[in-house]
Amino acid sequence: MIQVTITYHCRVCGSTNIVRNGTNKCGNQQYHCKDCGAYRVLEPKRVHTEDEKETIMRTYKERASMRGLERIFNIARQAVARWIRDIVRALPNLKDTLLPARADDVLELNELWSFVLKKSRKRWLWTAICRRTRQIVAFVIGDRSEKTCRRLWNKIPDEYKKCLTFSDFWEAYQKVFPKGTHHCVGKESGETAHMERWYNTLRQRLARFVRKTLSFSKSDAFHHMVTKWYIAEYNLAISLTM
Ligand SMILES: [Zn+2]
Repeated sequence: MIQVTITYHCRVCGSTNIVRNGTNKCGNQQYHCKDCGAYRVLEPKRVHTEDEKETIMRTYKERASMRGLERIFNIARQAVARWIRDIVRALPNLKDTLLPARADDVLELNELWSFVLKKSRKRWLWTAICRRTRQIVAFVIGDRSEKTCRRLWNKIPDEYKKCLTFSDFWEAYQKVFPKGTHHCVGKESGETAHMERWYNTLRQRLARFVRKTLSFSKSDAFHHMVTKWYIAEYNLAISLTM
């Protein structure tokens, strides 16, 4: 017979006078120290180095699911979510990722259906793309109402507000965008082709992010975060090459 005895010490005071104290919401065994009163996880997951973090984030961007990351890297998905939050907080404002507007620039507008948590919780991603640079000049996530459309208009930087704009016949655009510069067109006109094309790319990259498996308590916030992350990096990559 082989027997192994492990003695656990309190990670705060080093005492062995500790008892099991149920599990936390991730299912990890907790202990309570009778000497210093601490409540902690009995076997904490190891700390990841910056290199490991980067590898994990790169894997995430290649559409690995959070649960997939848990299995591959033995990391809590709560930790991944926290890293993503930190990355997104450190990103510049979207307007600071943009190249300067030109007088003859044209914006294409559209909105894309997605959902958070379950299909009944619809969220529309509204976007404005610059036809020349292909950068996303502004985006908002919300319902399909005039109010959300107005938020999009407000997010467009002033220098881009003078541009010609094209959208489909969705009524909200006609109410919000200035009559002098805005045009409603059918899909077949090709005037919103770049925006539609970009949605294909986005769906490829972000398909995982809107799935049910990623049900966070603050899933709307997370949905917004990963979208902003993707768009900001997409814009910055273009700024570097032009
Ligand atoms: Zn202790």
